[in-house]
Amino acid sequence: MTNRLRLLVCASVFTSVSFAASTARVEFKNAQGQSVGSATLAPKTADDTGGVRVTLDLHGLPPGEHALHFHQNAKCDPPDFASAGPHFNPEKKQHGLHNPAGPHAGDMENFVVGSDGTAQVEVVAPGVTLNHGDNALLSNGGRSLVIHAHGDDMMTDPAGNSGARIACGVVTAE
Ligand code: ZN
Repeated sequence: MTNRLRLLVCASVFTSVSFAASTARVEFKNAQGQSVGSATLAPKTADDTGGVRVTLDLHGLPPGEHALHFHQNAKCDPPDFASAGPHFNPEKKQHGLHNPAGPHAGDMENFVVGSDGTAQVEVVAPGVTLNHGDNALLSNGGRSLVIHAHGDDMMTDPAGNSGARIACGVVTAE
């Protein structure tokens, strides 16, 4: 392949990426299969290389701190959501935003559910993109977003001692 042809191929790839989905959505179900709300996802930067904003609008959840992670598989079978697989980790790192050998691409900060069981809050997932590169949520079969029973200690491999998976939803392009 000539250099000129390589440039043309690269240009066409970038063109297709720029027309990919600019937002995504997650509809969460709990272990009983009931809706517990949703999340809207948008790239943090215009070029979709610098993290994803996750805006949560949740209800019917236990009050307190909860972990939130992107998991490897776009599959959420109740009641235990084991089908979602491990944390999304294309870079083969350890778990935890504060782990020197981490983090997983799918790791992010905890969020808090109020005493009424609801949460309207934004969390930034720094290690993922919607469409760009190997850490994309919408490529290679897609991903899921899982809410855990407890907060994440941001250190313990592989899941931060965050307990059971209490809600799950597939990341879907809008
Ligand atoms: Zn992790």
